[in-house]
This record gives sequence, structure tokens and C-alpha cells, in this order.
Amino acid sequence: MECVKRRGFRLPGDMTVAEWLDGAGQTGALRRRLWEPLCLAALNTPAERASAQLFANVLRDSLGSPRREDTDLLLPRVPLGQLLPEPAGDWLTTHGACIRLRHRVRTLARQTDSIQVDDQPFDAAVLAVAPQHAATLWPEAAVPNGFEPIATVYLQYPPDIKLPFPLQSLSGRLGQWVVDRGDGLLACVLSGHGDWETYDDAALAHVLDAELRISAPLLGASTIREKRATFAATPDLRRPDPQNGRLHIAGDYAWSDYPATLEGAIRSGLRAAHAILGN
Ligand SMILES: Cc1cc2nc3c(=O)[nH]c(=O)nc-3n(C[C@H](O)[C@H](O)[C@H](O)COP(=O)(O)OP(=O)(O)OC[C@H]3O[C@@H](n4cnc5c(N)ncnc54)[C@H](O)[C@@H]3O)c2cc1C
Repeated sequence: MECVKRRGFRLPGDMTVAEWLDGAGQTGALRRRLWEPLCLAALNTPAERASAQLFANVLRDSLGSPRREDTDLLLPRVPLGQLLPEPAGDWLTTHGACIRLRHRVRTLARQTDSIQVDDQPFDAAVLAVAPQHAATLWPEAAVPNGFEPIATVYLQYPPDIKLPFPLQSLSGRLGQWVVDRGDGLLACVLSGHGDWETYDDAALAHVLDAELRISAPLLGASTIREKRATFAATPDLRRPDPQNGRLHIAGDYAWSDYPATLEGAIRSGLRAAHAILGN
């Protein structure tokens, strides 16, 4: 860490996190128990394929940051929708914006003095959809074309069951992280392509239940698998130009400093808004 800090977290060239760790002689327990799980959690891409430069950027703005608050671990106590998009939507509505939920945009077209969204002309537009959808709506945008999955396996135990910590590492055969959602509900998160994908839902719940070693019966389980949960944060990733005339591109993949994160999505959205407002 000190070594990359001295270089301002810039690597001479991009490589995989595994190659970077090999080069730094990080081959033992620290690698298995800290760097590899941290890389998988932050980049949703295993160290063998993950970009070392993107990982260094994440370290720069978290563990390596001089600001104490950058290492705070924030755990939302309400669903994410309630925490971020709903208040943002309310603010926009009270400031005169018209929000059309469940409206799928079909076409974007460049006109001489406007950008056309479906049949309606606008002075400017922000395309803020996932890369696979952006590629359909605006084919000239350079978008990442590899993806990584995430599965969340919800295990229900009796309501008095509680983990010692709200978020815990699970260093078993398959388990990675487990979040205590309260009332005996534990959410096991499995990131990136891996062996877990070969298990069906029932087998996955069974293995994770065994790894958790909870001293109570498992009452129920359900699994959500997202095949294209995030873009794969691999070395030298393709990123789009943030501005194409009147069309601005936002979304996690448009913030080239970061892997697929809420932070990257927000920063790219702010950049687009400032560009349109001319400040
Ligand atoms: C299970 C899971 C866990 C995650 N955990 C974390 C985490 O802990 N921390 C973190 O920072 N990130 C996490 N991420 C990643 C994070 O969710 C993404 O980086 C972030 O949501 C990207 O935001 P976005 O606005 O770029 O795109 P999205 O959130 O994908 O939003 C794009 C929106 O565009 C809409 N859309 C698509 N096509 C059209 C169309 N034609 N017309 C109109 N609308 C359209 C979609 O419906 C969607 O609402 C996680 C992702 C998953 C799947």
C-alpha cells in the first residue's frame, strides 16, 4: 500500500490485480484474506481478471485516503430506493421536473438543433442506462462489453438469530459476504463469475447454511441471480466519451476512474448536469 501511495496510486501500465499482487510479493494470507476479497467486493471481478489500476483508484479513495470519513463503512437501514432515488425524485418534482416512470425510450436521434428522444426534441439529453442498453440506443458509444454476475441468497432463520456484526466476511468454500437484514434474515452475496454458478438455488442455500453454522434451523431460502449485474472491471476497459454534442453519457461505466459503483454513476451524472448547465 505504501509503495503505490508514494506513486500517487498510478501504475506504470494496467494489468490484472493478480499480476500486481504477484509483482508486489503479496502471495500469502494477506492476499487471500484481504486483497482478493476486497477486490472482488469493490470491482465485482475476481483478481485474476480485475484491473489493477481501477483497484488502485478504489484504494486511493478509501483505505489509502487521508480523510477519516473515507474509510467509514456505511450500512443503509432502509432500502436503497428509499435512501437515494426517491428523495432525488421528490426534489426534482417539487422543482418543476416531470418524471415519466416506466417509460422505455426507443430511439435517440441527433438533429441539427436538438436531440430527439423518441419523437420529442430536446436541447440536451443524458443517456444514463446500463452499457448493454446504451449500445442499442446509441451504437457509437464505446461501452464495456464483458459482464459479471451477482447472486443474493436470502436465508431465513428464527427472528432471534443475529450475526455478531451487521456485515461479515464468509471465507468458506462458496460464501463471500453475509449481511444481517434483521429478524433472522441473512443475505449472502456472491460476486463475480465463480464455482457458485454451477449450484442450483437449493444446493447453494444448503452449502451457505452449512458455512454459516447458525445454531438454528433454516426456515426458508430464496435466491436472486443477476447475470449482468455489473460490467467486468478488466484492464484497459473501453469507456465512452461523456459528451456527444447534445447527448451526454452518464452511468457507472461512463466514469472511467471507477469500477461499477453507485459513486461512479453519481459522479458521471453530476458531470453531465454541470456540462448542460454550462458550469
Ligand atoms: C446485486 C447488486 C449489488 C450491488 N452492490 C453495490 C454496492 O454495494 N455498492 C455499489 O456502489 N454498487 C453496487 N452495485 C452496482 C450498482 O448498482 C451500479 O453501479 C449502479 O446501479 C449503476 O447505476 P446507473 O445509474 O449507471 O445504472 P442503473 O442502476 O442500471 O440504472 C439504469 C436505469 O436505466 C433504465 N433503462 C434502461 N433502458 C432504458 C430505456 N430504454 N428507457 C428508459 N429507461 C431505461 C433501467 O430501467 C434502470 O433503471 C450492485 C449491483 C447489483 C446488481
